[in-house]
Amino acid sequence: MTPKSKYNANKLEKRLCRNVGKAIEDFNMIEDGDRVMVCLSGGKDSYALLDILLKLRSRAPIHFDIFAVNLDQKQPGFPEHILPQYLDSLDIEYKIVEEDTYSIVKDKIPEGKTTCSLCSRLRRGILYRTAKEMGATKIALGHHRDDMLETLFLNMFYGGRLKSMPAKLVSDDGQHTVIRPLAYCKEADLIRYGDVQEFPIIPCNLCGSQDNLQRQAVKAMLHEWDRRYPGRSETIFKAMQNVVPSHLADRQLFDFLSMQPTGEANADGDTAFDQPSFSEPKPEFASDVQIVELK
Ligand code: SF4
Repeated sequence: MTPKSKYNANKLEKRLCRNVGKAIEDFNMIEDGDRVMVCLSGGKDSYALLDILLKLRSRAPIHFDIFAVNLDQKQPGFPEHILPQYLDSLDIEYKIVEEDTYSIVKDKIPEGKTTCSLCSRLRRGILYRTAKEMGATKIALGHHRDDMLETLFLNMFYGGRLKSMPAKLVSDDGQHTVIRPLAYCKEADLIRYGDVQEFPIIPCNLCGSQDNLQRQAVKAMLHEWDRRYPGRSETIFKAMQNVVPSHLADRQLFDFLSMQPTGEANADGDTAFDQPSFSEPKPEFASDVQIVELK
């Protein structure tokens, strides 16, 4: 590695550690005494998550345990030795759970139909059960900022909901706290970090499932926006952290029915005919949406 690439790799590591530390602090993701179960799939994101959490733990003012869990779903060609080898080299607690969900999915879903929803439902149940068995107090997943942005638009375009992927939330069975410490990390940084660290990546297409075309289209749309208007993804993510319920139309979020003038000036009040003004980059969503054909 040249001195320059070493310098850049250091900067990247510091930025990722800072972003993860900030997300943990902002959302109170990890507390003293926690036992954090890191779900390791063998992809670049979960490797980075485990690596950065271990680095942060070594200098954290609080004590918490970390252990890794991988679910071996018995997909054909899954290289079983890679994760145990890697985890042994880290000398950390881990568990490989072997459950043949692949056969169940192939058996239940007709050929040509999408298998992901049953597969992920089965995986979720197994991971929740494992978390309970192993006494985890937090389940950490490797989703990053760009996953959250894509989910926001998928829910808007195809689900009619203004909803993304939570940085921290109680699981749907009400039993676990799920955290996403990479919430502030860009995917581009994680790709570079994976290259620098030379994580032994396991390909994610072993099941033979087709790529999710809707997600691919939204990803392409966001990339194109960022290419044409640098910083747009940052701005959208900032918007997710800066919601003004009175300026949307969800009657559950804001009490439109009984609100009354207070007599006090309020900068967040209605500005009647004034058009909102923005600094660059200008929002040009109406024309931009047509850039990428959404299937
Ligand atoms: S891509 Fe394959 S392994 Fe992943 S959720 Fe879909 S069916 Fe399961």
